[in-house]
Amino acid sequence: MGIVVVGSVAYDTVETATGRRDDALGGAATFFSVAARFFAPVSMVGVVGKDFQKEHEQMLHDRGIDVRALEHADGKTFHWHGRYHEDMNRRDTISLALNVFDGFNPTLLPDQQRCDYLFLANISPELQYRVATQVKSPKLVAADTMDFWIQNARPHLTRLLERLDILTVNDEEARMLSGEHNLVKAGRAILKMGPKSLLVKRGEYGVLQFSKEGMFAVPAYPLEEVVDPTGAGDTFAGGLMGFLARQGRINESILRTAVVYGTVMASYTVENFSMDRLLELTWEEIDHRYRAFIELTDSHSNRWNSPS
Ligand code: AMP
Repeated sequence: MGIVVVGSVAYDTVETATGRRDDALGGAATFFSVAARFFAPVSMVGVVGKDFQKEHEQMLHDRGIDVRALEHADGKTFHWHGRYHEDMNRRDTISLALNVFDGFNPTLLPDQQRCDYLFLANISPELQYRVATQVKSPKLVAADTMDFWIQNARPHLTRLLERLDILTVNDEEARMLSGEHNLVKAGRAILKMGPKSLLVKRGEYGVLQFSKEGMFAVPAYPLEEVVDPTGAGDTFAGGLMGFLARQGRINESILRTAVVYGTVMASYTVENFSMDRLLELTWEEIDHRYRAFIELTDSHSNRWNSPS
């Protein structure tokens, strides 16, 4: 089977310079699944409360996302409230109510345990590790984490890192995890902790990828207006993993193309609040922006050979 993602399914209240949206559909697993489903089959593992709207679950189902392991628990759905600074790369968490997410301890279904691709979205590294050990022989395991876990769950995170093919973090998290301010030094240091590849997400500055073979850098797709960056990181991961699963094998070149597809998918998410843009996206638009992105970064190699 294809990709299994484990993570938050949420209602988000988001404030940005352009406006505000209350209780909109969000969550790392949700953004990831919708993005990845453009490329490959996705099975979602998460928990929601009694307030989770039927139309939201139906929408996921209608898009071909497997929601059998979306547990319905007594209580309210996880709620996150964030406020972005004028500089959209920076945000503050105003409130976070774990609700039914507190005590989330999933057991994968038998067919999910045989998945080839596993994405462990931002949950406690202890739980991520426990889920990772349930999967029999995955082709690729990737995970995301955040500052809170780096500071408060280091031993569990260390153990998880040793099992990972890919780790995704933002630049501040890379610095915190490595103790290095310079991102190249940070990247090298994190690779020594276990993951075969590291993807450092830098918001509007794009993504830096580190692996033993070297470094790869892509800018973010330049947009005139960013409305809401929420979910960009998870959408990026969804596009990336979706493309890798579609290819069915991985090498440095395929990984680089996957980074570009992830970047393209994320560029759509930030164009509107919540998942609004992602949900109306077509494959033609993805293809169009992928081509535009390649053109944007292609210098046509007119290298000047100095006569001296
Ligand atoms: P991103 O902007 O890619 O970091 O993802 C934001 C999404 O992650 C939002 O939809 C939130 O609901 C969700 N989220 C925020 N904080 C957490 C957390 N501590 N654990 C899990 N999910 C979270």
